[in-house]
Amino acid sequence: MTKAFIFLGPPGCGKGTQTELLARELKLPHIDTGSLLRKNIKEGTEIGLVAKGFIDKGQLVPLNVVSTVIKNRLMEADCANGYILDGFPRSLEQATELDKILDELNGKIKKEDIMAVYFDIPTEVLVERLVNRRSCPKCGKIYNIKTSAPKKAGFCDDCDVELIQRKDDTEETAKLRFETYEKETHPLLEFYTKRGNLQTINANQSIDKVWADLIKTVSSIV
Ligand code: AMP
Repeated sequence: MTKAFIFLGPPGCGKGTQTELLARELKLPHIDTGSLLRKNIKEGTEIGLVAKGFIDKGQLVPLNVVSTVIKNRLMEADCANGYILDGFPRSLEQATELDKILDELNGKIKKEDIMAVYFDIPTEVLVERLVNRRSCPKCGKIYNIKTSAPKKAGFCDDCDVELIQRKDDTEETAKLRFETYEKETHPLLEFYTKRGNLQTINANQSIDKVWADLIKTVSSIV
């Protein structure tokens, strides 16, 4: 039974929100490399120090760094029966690395079990989405100051903590992240299509509709 998912889609396509919901629904760990790297930066670890320069420039962090982060996380007990990977793999090199990690771990989840879900959305709508994105530093809830604003401007509805904007969500860095996505991540669609493991969701819809489509797709494969 497939219980390991990876999510593909351009920055701001909504996969963060949907994968969190799905992780809760399926009771699987949600593993988000961007958040893991930002956590390392906050804690001032060696990994964080290396990652920061790349993240601030909108570039991919080197393979050995993300690979270490992912492998360590997948070795934790809660990942034995499945997980949701969000933001990894992000290049062909990383997809091959993920296969290698799964071979090495030799656990219940095999590389053939990985199901890729692609969030299809035109990139034009995304730059605006990114620059309007804010999040709660405490609970991680994501807001859009134009389309899903908090009740009290600038503060989390649940925690009443001041919302923050990610440093790489500025217009200039967002554009660089799109370029990186097109060049590095987009080719993965072909990689997983060839394996027969790719599902596509129309992500240019409301959060509720994307969620309904996602659940339908996932129910048909697990
Ligand atoms: P995200 O939160 O997924 O948008 O990721 C933010 C930034 O973290 C990216 O722009 C990259 O610099 C870095 N990052 C996250 N995941 C990866 C990955 N799988 N490989 C390399 N860099 C990554």
